[in-house]
Amino acid sequence: MIALAPRMGALAGSPASQIRHKVQEMRTAGRDVVDLSSGDLDFSTPETVVEAACRAARSGETKYTSVDGTPALKEAIRRRFETNNGLIYERDEIIVCSGSTQAIFEGFLATISPDDEVLVPCPYWSQYLNQARLAGARPILMACPQNNGFKLRPDDLRAAIGAKTRWLVLNNPTNPSGAVYSESELSSIAEVMLEHPHIWILEDRLYEDIVFDDMRISALSAIEPKLKDRTLMVGGVAKSYAMMGWRIGYAGGPSHLIQAMANIQSQTTSCAPSVSQAAALAALSGSQDLVAERNKILLHRRDYLVEQINLCRGLACRAPQGTFYLLISCAGILGKKKPNGARIDSDRQFADFLLDEVGVVVAVGADFGQSPYIRASFGVHQATLEHAVSRIRLACNTLRERD
Ligand code: PMP
Repeated sequence: MIALAPRMGALAGSPASQIRHKVQEMRTAGRDVVDLSSGDLDFSTPETVVEAACRAARSGETKYTSVDGTPALKEAIRRRFETNNGLIYERDEIIVCSGSTQAIFEGFLATISPDDEVLVPCPYWSQYLNQARLAGARPILMACPQNNGFKLRPDDLRAAIGAKTRWLVLNNPTNPSGAVYSESELSSIAEVMLEHPHIWILEDRLYEDIVFDDMRISALSAIEPKLKDRTLMVGGVAKSYAMMGWRIGYAGGPSHLIQAMANIQSQTTSCAPSVSQAAALAALSGSQDLVAERNKILLHRRDYLVEQINLCRGLACRAPQGTFYLLISCAGILGKKKPNGARIDSDRQFADFLLDEVGVVVAVGADFGQSPYIRASFGVHQATLEHAVSRIRLACNTLRERD
């Protein structure tokens, strides 16, 4: 077999894609599986958005677009940054990509030199680490303890910064913890970043529309405008409008970085899909009422899931303030024995047990750098959630206490 490139190292498919594959295989084999592991929402893409896409396809919007996106979509994104985040960007400071995943990777590729360091708060979305590695950098993890709501503390950030630090990643609201940073928390992070002008800031705002409990979500560079010319604000339509498969994300940032990202894009994907861009335009510029309606549904599901999980023996969780994920501690499970006598010693073993015993799929904390935890999504229908909860409770009840 001819060898692959050294940069492939230990790179594997993302944990999410591996689980998706496994669930598909199990369903094909006829197993009854309840999936709470996915980053997909059960909602459908709004009808007006689907109609706009059909119209675009029929009217010939099927050609390559400008590399950095159609002017109409870029204008809608520009307006969105202004209304949602109070940030004013020019046209040449905005790029449309095939998902926010691509925007982040292009940002890293355009700026990282060998041995640079990328600071990532932990728990994390694992793609940050692997994208940084692919671009030649070393990810540096900063622990965000549960007693600080899984949020980054300014002192930990300060301690992690060194001469090689190239990026700080800040995901707000956060996957997998659902943490949302308050304005004062962002202010203290901004203060640290002002002391270190050589560092880029990635603000990943993919979940910014999914917040609860009247949390007001702010942006670092809105709080501290001096940070704006080194911040890459990344967003997308995937979660706000249940458009995961349309693959549209975007970024706002200084024009020289955006131009470099566009150059990478022109050499790789040429542009984001034209029909999806028309759909994203309809989503961003149409009525936003559905977003609020769906948040109410998610809030109801969140409260249900939190209450029920806390009733399961060995599990504990707190209500997330954003996203549709619940990070659940399974510390109380470790050391217990399965009906076959085998001990559960890790979150991965607990997740495997849930799958084998009751057919429930959850994401594993270890894949987010946070053990012993599991992540369960409430982006599934209430009936599915109820089904899952009764199975998880059953599984927890079959475990025998530690000797
Ligand atoms: N950032 C975070 C934190 C995510 O959880 C995801 C997807 N689950 C992405 C970015 C990428 O989303 P997309 O490429 O679909 O826009």
